[in-house]
Amino acid sequence: RLEELFPFLASLEGRPYPFYKDLKGTWRGEGFELRFVHVQGDPFATPSVVEVRYPARALEKLRVYRHPMGQVAVEDFLLRALKARFRHLPFFGGSGHSGRVFVEVESPKVLRRAGAHLGQEALYLRFRVGLPASGRRILGKEAERLFWALAEHLRGFLWELDGRALVSQVQQVEDFAYIQESLPQRGLVAFVGDRAILPRESGVSQKPLRGAVPFQSPPSLRVSFRVPHKGEVVGMGLPQGLTLITGGGFHGKTTLLEALVHGVYPHIPGDGREWVVTHALAQRVQSEDGRSVKGVDLRPFVHDLPLGQDTSFFSTEDASGCTSLAAAILEALELGARVLLLDEDTSATNLLVRDARMQALVQRETLTPLLDRVQDFKARGVSLILVVGGVGDYLDLADTVLLLEEYRPREATLEAKAIAQAHPTGRAFGEPRYPLAVASRAPLPESFDPRRGRKVRVKGRGLRELVYGEEVVDLSALDLFENAQVRALGAWFQRLWRQADGKTPLRKLVEAVLGGAEDLFSLEEAPEVAEVRPVELGAAVNRLRGLEVRRVEE
Ligand code: ADP
Ligand code: MG
Repeated sequence: RLEELFPFLASLEGRPYPFYKDLKGTWRGEGFELRFVHVQGDPFATPSVVEVRYPARALEKLRVYRHPMGQVAVEDFLLRALKARFRHLPFFGGSGHSGRVFVEVESPKVLRRAGAHLGQEALYLRFRVGLPASGRRILGKEAERLFWALAEHLRGFLWELDGRALVSQVQQVEDFAYIQESLPQRGLVAFVGDRAILPRESGVSQKPLRGAVPFQSPPSLRVSFRVPHKGEVVGMGLPQGLTLITGGGFHGKTTLLEALVHGVYPHIPGDGREWVVTHALAQRVQSEDGRSVKGVDLRPFVHDLPLGQDTSFFSTEDASGCTSLAAAILEALELGARVLLLDEDTSATNLLVRDARMQALVQRETLTPLLDRVQDFKARGVSLILVVGGVGDYLDLADTVLLLEEYRPREATLEAKAIAQAHPTGRAFGEPRYPLAVASRAPLPESFDPRRGRKVRVKGRGLRELVYGEEVVDLSALDLFENAQVRALGAWFQRLWRQADGKTPLRKLVEAVLGGAEDLFSLEEAPEVAEVRPVELGAAVNRLRGLEVRRVEE
């Protein structure tokens, strides 16, 4: 029983640290129960995991959602509220992490996280607590005080929640979900609401830039949505097909593209990007020197290499800017992406375009630039959003041209067409040698064996790297926003290890793994795991140097 926890902690005073192991198990209290899921081995180790369980009767106030994303919004809200609440804990002393409490929510994205789970019967919250010690000796009295204070906060937690803020976050997210789900039937791939604040304070901050110019939709691209809660929302709708975002340097092109990349997830109220909504299957692709590529049929972009080298099952440990971009595009298609976002700044020029002069000079061309594939993308129903400042060859083909001037967009599609006619590029649009076909690959289970090295280690290292066995997987080209997403990738890799059979195509495999697991919550008992989309898990798999694949027919 919970009342017994406090004298028990006090009784540990002065004992060696491992005596804390006896905390394991459940301590039942009045309005909630505490469970010690993991107990650390010493005060410097990763702190212990504590789970709080509130029974169904305490949860009436939380059933304010109608859409599954609304439930995620509640969970996200609770975790943020818990984090804010624990900031008011007094200071507890000791060595290492003694007395420190960690609730993990790292970004303003509303994501499913293992730290909060609202089930039919109960609400579970998980966080970490550094169990107090001085050196290797337990500070039992300090631990008693700490858990007394924690219990106080947990007792009042659900009662004292800001109900209005909760409802407003849920409604925000449900409106987001409504727009995201309606984009396809409206013929759109993204929506940016008027008055959105897109730029961030700095490259390392997620806070909105103060004094930023609010987004204002150009009249010709203005659309409105009747959302379930807010009523009517007005903003810019980007149509399917090829969209160019252009303008002079520093006029906000990359900022807009970034916002669209982030817009696959909902944001909390106050973020500035609440009404930026991007197609759920959008993915950014970019050049990535030095990455590994395994068994990709690159022929739609790279073919007929010198000395008869075949590219129909192409692998390399050290891809160039151009091959890495070609691979990223084809892998994204293989994983089912419906919208690709590219920035000229991070795309190899030779894969974007080959102009008339180079066409004339170079006869034995081994590259088919994206420019010659635009029609094929349209035929596949895959849209492209391209930031270009220097390459004008796309103007002829664009369905929509957005011109940014001092952060204000205006539509320049007709102007662009007129210019394209007045200044023909003189390029020949030849029929590409190979069709834009996407070959499916099935990963072999060994690919995901973390024991391939000597030591099993799975851990994130910032947002850019995942340590998996002996390998450090470079994730810098992926759009991950929380360390918890990186750690989730490691946990999912281990699932893939069990489920891969060398026959199931990668796309089916990642979808099965992500969809089949009941929940993130049951994937890991640690709180630091957050949702990733199938396209991200697939992209991470594609960057695993140990990946082995077999070609399969679908
Ligand atoms: P581009 O890609 O066109 O060269 P960026 O998107 O990199 O331009 O933006 C250049 C700078 O302008 C960045 O520092 C960015 O934070 C800032 N910026 C972007 N949009 C806005 C805005 N709406 N209001 C104020 N500053 C902005
Ligand atoms: Mg830029």
